[in-house]
Formats: sequence, structure tokens, C-alpha cells
Amino acid sequence: KAKEEGKGTFRVFEPAMAERMQARSRMEADLRRALGAGEFELHFQPLVDVRTGAVTAAEALVRWRHPEQGLVSPADFIPLAEETGLIAPLGAWVLHTACLQAASWPSDIKVAVNLSPVQFRDDGLPQAVADTLRATGLEAGRLELEITEGVLLDGEERTLAMLTKLRGIGVGLAMDDFGTGYSSLSYLRRFPFSKIKIDRSFVSLLPDDAESAAIVRAIITMGAGLGMATTVEGVETAEQYAFVAAERCGQVQGYHVSRPLPAAAFLGFLSGLEAAA
Ligand code: C2E
Ligand code: MG
Ligand code: MG
Ligand code: MG
Repeated sequence: KAKEEGKGTFRVFEPAMAERMQARSRMEADLRRALGAGEFELHFQPLVDVRTGAVTAAEALVRWRHPEQGLVSPADFIPLAEETGLIAPLGAWVLHTACLQAASWPSDIKVAVNLSPVQFRDDGLPQAVADTLRATGLEAGRLELEITEGVLLDGEERTLAMLTKLRGIGVGLAMDDFGTGYSSLSYLRRFPFSKIKIDRSFVSLLPDDAESAAIVRAIITMGAGLGMATTVEGVETAEQYAFVAAERCGQVQGYHVSRPLPAAAFLGFLSGLEAAA
């Protein structure tokens, strides 16, 4: 009887589940193939120093140039890459490629690279970062690693040890999407972050929304008090730019300055600014 019931129950769920699993394993195979086929590329979004108006860094953002689907955004493949372990080779490729590109830029321009919490769980990460810097010839001070609050769930001791090792190499550490996760303010005191990136959800209603304004102002003040730089993400309008500039945030990133650009276009953007100056 149990067998019959089990069979009947299974039959109800089977089609939808089988389909989902098939779609997933197709996409997994496709991801694996894409890595070998060189279908990933990095786009670079400028970060501007609000005091000088100069571009001081770029964030590397990965895209998948899919033969049929066109340019696929990271939100659509990073989660699966994380679940399947493919984030390890993909993340290594991103780090290497971003450092190699940046090594060819003017030496006052830094590069920021996003790290998945899965990469962060690998004890070999600090060595891999050091090796990549050596292999690409990029100075450690020109690399900034962006980490989300999610990594802090792995345990404080481990996180602190990892961040301390990375800082020891000389790279910068940015807390990405600040304010969206579960981190407590004490983490900012305990962990050696060099920068806070204020999540764009706090920016979208600026400058009119009083609560958003209060939060952004408070985070910038707190960052300054803790000796950390602040970058405001997702600045889309001149009004938003003026607001955060008046609050003395360090850097601005967003469509108002520029969308993420292919490597050659980013260099064009840099020289365009120079020509205009
Ligand atoms: P993130 O690290 O917070 O990156 C900023 C995201 O905000 C980027 O989306 C960028 O295109 C977008 N953005 C920038 N300015 C604006 C703006 O003014 N308005 C709006 N609406 N959006 C803006 P993207 O490139 O789609 O990346 C999404 C997320 O995917 C990233 O968020 C990051 O968490 C992840 N990601 C991207 N590249 C990598 C990577 O190489 N490795 C890992 N592990 N994650 C990555
Ligand atoms: Mg980021
Ligand atoms: Mg962010
Ligand atoms: Mg984000």
C-alpha cells in the first residue's frame, strides 16, 4: 500500500519537477560550456570622486554573451553558478581579467571586483588573490574586493581572519549593498573594511523622501567617523548627485555618471573626461 501511495504521489509532482530539473541542468551545462567558450565578458562602471569630479575607479561587472539569448545579466546566472560550484572558475576568471585590464589603465584608477560568499568560504582565497596580483602585475592597492553582508553569516572568527589576511595583502575591502542585509553596526567596527557602499535602494527616492535622506546622511557620517570611505550606488539623476555630493560622500556610482561599459568604451570615457577638462 505504501508503495502504491508513494507512486501515486510521485506521479503528481513528477512532470513539473522533472521539467525544472531539466531546465536547470541544461543551464548548468550551458554555463560550463560558456566558460570554456569564452562567452563571459566584463563591463566596467566608473566611480567618481565627488570632490574632484574625476573617475578614480571602476567596478567590474560580469556579463554572459549568450549565442542565442544575447547579453545575460549576472542576476540570471550567478545564483546557479554558486549552487553548482562553477562560481569558483568563473570568479577566478573575473578576478584575473579585471586585474589584467586594470594593469593597463592609468595608475591612479583602481578596480573593484565582486566576490561571492561562496568564493569567500575558500581558505585558499587570499593566496589566489596574491597570485593573481603577481601574475597580472597589478599593484595590490589598486584592487578593491566587494563583499556583501552575507559573508558575515559564516561566523565572526573566520570572517575576521579572512578579511585580515586580505587586508594584509594590501587590497581594499568594500562592504557592498550596505543596509540591505543583517549586519549589525558593530561589524563595521570589528572588521577591517576600507569602504562602505550604500545600497541603491536608499538612493532611489532621493532627494525628496525624508527617511531615505536621513538614512543616507547617517551612513555617510558614520563612515567618516569610522575612517571609511563611502560610495553611493545607483545615483541616476542630477538631483540625487547634488544631494549626496552636498552630504560629502566620497564617491558616486550610477547611471547619472555612466552605465557599466565594455573595456574599450570605459577607456574612451576616461579620455573623453580628460579632453573635456
Ligand atoms: P552590485 O555589486 O551591487 O553591482 C551594482 C549593480 O547595480 C550592477 O548591476 C549595476 O549595473 C547596477 N547599477 C549601477 N548603477 C545603477 C543605477 O544608477 N541604477 C540602477 N538601477 N542600477 C545601477 P549588475 O551588473 O546587473 O550586477 C548585479 C549584481 O550581480 C551585482 O550587484 C553583484 O552583486 C553581482 N555581480 C556582478 N558581477 C559579478 C561578479 O563578477 N562576481 C560576483 N560574484 N557577483 C557579480
Ligand atoms: Mg558590487
Ligand atoms: Mg552594490
Ligand atoms: Mg547589488
